[in-house]
Amino acid sequence: MYNCSQTFLNPTQQSLPVHRLVSTLSRILDDSSVPLSFRKELTEIFPSILDGSLHIPSQQNVVNENTLVDRTSDRTSLVQLDSSTLHFLFSSVELPDDLVLFRDFSPEHTQMFYDYLQFFGTLAFDLHKFDSITNHHPLAATLILIFVQHDLFQPFQIDLSTFIRFAITLEQNYLPIEYHSAIHAADVLHFCHFSLCSSSQSLRSLTKRDLVMLFTAAAAHDVQHPGRYREFLISHSHPIALTYNDISPLENFHASTLFTKILSSKETNFIDNFSPEDKLLFRQTVIELILATDLKYHQPVRTRLELLRTQCGSSVFQPKCQDERVLVMKSLLMSADLNVILRPRSILLATYHNLYVEMYKQGDVEIAEGQVVDSMYDRKKDDVHTTTLQMYTFVTKVVLPFIMTVHTLLDCFGDGIMNVQTNLEYWESILNEESANVQKQ
Ligand SMILES: [Zn+2]
Repeated sequence: MYNCSQTFLNPTQQSLPVHRLVSTLSRILDDSSVPLSFRKELTEIFPSILDGSLHIPSQQNVVNENTLVDRTSDRTSLVQLDSSTLHFLFSSVELPDDLVLFRDFSPEHTQMFYDYLQFFGTLAFDLHKFDSITNHHPLAATLILIFVQHDLFQPFQIDLSTFIRFAITLEQNYLPIEYHSAIHAADVLHFCHFSLCSSSQSLRSLTKRDLVMLFTAAAAHDVQHPGRYREFLISHSHPIALTYNDISPLENFHASTLFTKILSSKETNFIDNFSPEDKLLFRQTVIELILATDLKYHQPVRTRLELLRTQCGSSVFQPKCQDERVLVMKSLLMSADLNVILRPRSILLATYHNLYVEMYKQGDVEIAEGQVVDSMYDRKKDDVHTTTLQMYTFVTKVVLPFIMTVHTLLDCFGDGIMNVQTNLEYWESILNEESANVQKQ
């Protein structure tokens, strides 16, 4: 398993500026026309070059996008970042002014950011906290870090400035609502990263091209979510429902927004260097992934996963074709969209609180219109027992059957499965306590 928590801030690891320096120094050391005394002096100043402890990324890490990546070697090449790389990505004077995310950060604030990255590879990484640490750039910062860590820029010649501008623009297109905000998108994206890092075998056959598509879909999957839900949009003849004929209106809207509002501009179109075939595949796959976040696809995807599990028998599942890899990516994204039950309890409770606040606001509108609203949207029923029972029922009946099917096939949720157990036990204790109180009365 990747040890993601250890992959930041190792002072001996590469960074983009350091990489350039090392390449230059290596050339000088190998150049017999340079006086020996000078080369000796250099090796004394930079002993880590001499003894090889300074990691220099090899050309083997540059993967042809048309070949399957052996993720065994990929694991060892998961890019590790030090503080100078992070400084380059977020504060560098080499970037245009509008792309410097941490322009006004004090040294203490910057250090806080570096320190918190120790948790980046764990489910304790709280995107609400990261939102505050990054001065409300949780999605852009997470997206950039993940692309760097999975080494996705170089193989596809993605321009760094264009990508950072894409990440910021995408983030700005999320509305500042309670649940379906840029924080939720960052959380879903982060969970995809966590799953890839936690998988023992099955996800190794995803290519770097697959990862570009998966991470982009995760980051964009709820962009411009209006904080109103499918039935509401349809019953109110909302333009989103009318545009997409009531068919997965929100999911179609998010996918369309990504391509028509964000990737349509030269300044943010980070896939501009892709071949025409790759552009087409990117568009088809990202749309398919985003549409799959509609809950109505849970059962058909689950049925396919169970069939694959049966076909595999006792051997480890490895997707063998693009269709199966897309199915795996869908499974990861659909799980990530519902991942909060796998997080520590504090994150779970805060997240569900935000979801309810958002749903109550829709309920307020419906009540003001004189409609009868589902209790999920009715803030008047807001008591601990009812909301706990609703969350418990949704998780046990809808979320867990899907997530456990994915985990059984892909073995990719690590210690999140333990969190599920303790979270359910916590809810059960509340429900049991409430039942006991009722019986006493
Ligand atoms: Zn979502």
